[in-house]
Amino acid sequence: MSYNSADVSSFKDIWVFCEQRDGMLMETDFELLSEGRKLAHERGAQLVGLLLGENVKGLVKELGGYGADRVIVCDDPRLKIYTTDAYTKVICDAVMERKPEVLLLGASNIGRDLGPRCAARLHTGLTADCTHLDIEMTKYVEFLKEASTLDTEAIGFDMQDVNLKMTRPAFGGHLMATIICPRFRPCMSTVRPGVLKKDDFDRAKSEACVMEIYPVKLTESDLKTKVLRTVKETRELVDLLGAEVVVAVGRGISKDIEKGISLAKELADALGGGVLGASRAVIDSGWLSADHQVGQTGKTVRSRIYVALGISGAIQHVSGMQNAEHIIAINKSETAPIFDVATYGITGDLFKVVPLMIESLKEA
Ligand code: FAD
Repeated sequence: MSYNSADVSSFKDIWVFCEQRDGMLMETDFELLSEGRKLAHERGAQLVGLLLGENVKGLVKELGGYGADRVIVCDDPRLKIYTTDAYTKVICDAVMERKPEVLLLGASNIGRDLGPRCAARLHTGLTADCTHLDIEMTKYVEFLKEASTLDTEAIGFDMQDVNLKMTRPAFGGHLMATIICPRFRPCMSTVRPGVLKKDDFDRAKSEACVMEIYPVKLTESDLKTKVLRTVKETRELVDLLGAEVVVAVGRGISKDIEKGISLAKELADALGGGVLGASRAVIDSGWLSADHQVGQTGKTVRSRIYVALGISGAIQHVSGMQNAEHIIAINKSETAPIFDVATYGITGDLFKVVPLMIESLKEA
């Protein structure tokens, strides 16, 4: 089934695909709803959550508390466990019928699989792995007009049709690309977890949120995948996304890897239940597992405190930690780029500086 329309004016509302696993909503759902709320307000539209699963109606009020005016629930045993074909079919059915203007998904493993499938079936574009969404289009349109960078007549679209400015890293993170989707709907985007700010839960909004049941239409021929069993990871993964304090190590620990990691852990404890993070150099060298990685191809953190130990500050690393509230960098090279984003910087050998920090924190 294909779907497209030249008339973008008939599309309205901002939709957020709300991912749940085993009946637990993801933090990204709340981040996307908080941002989607601003977008809906700007466009005079409704913010709609799209929730798929089995027995998930109980999650609707929670989504309402983060801004959803309405939640469309697709409740079916065949949606209990995520499969690409079932989820794609149900989402595309709902989108084709209701015509949302924007559809946002988290750039989780599921979102990264589902987003492109839906976009292809809907014959629209997808900006994957966004790090920023911008709804202040008026300013942008004015800028383009002034700069005469776009001959909109030749391109064949009206700038009024641009509803969202999406930003993502390109060319290995060396530049940030701004992408617009003026001619196709819905305008689709997957957004990295942790890059958008989550609002506080609002009880009044939660109570006002309306649930709508959407009838799931799935036939045998729609379901090409059968999940035989799911195996849960037994190792405890690092929770970087929700961490208040992150102490991250880089290649600077290479002189004594074990000591460097144990110093970082000790500092994280002294700062109050901190979590251990790392640069990609550390992961690629096999010193820590991939779930510790911060950055463009790792996790994006928004911690209160971020300590970078022996990390140079490559753009791909910085893009994953620059939103931390206080950044403390320790590097023996005073020209290391990490100091450009640091709130506090210490030039010195981490093996000498960190023990002193731990000692004074323990004394305090
Ligand atoms: P280095 O750049 O080698 O820096 C080590 C630093 O330690 C130096 O600044 C040095 O002065 C300092 N140092 C050495 N000894 C000491 C000491 N004793 N005390 C104090 N300081 C010391 N990187 C990420 O981190 N995350 C990503 O998600 C990521 N994604 C990428 C995606 C792409 C497509 C590409 C191309 C690259 C990506 N990278 C990523 C890699 C990135 O470009 C850098 O190579 C990497 O971040 C460097 O890690 P580092 O800072 O630990 O190591």
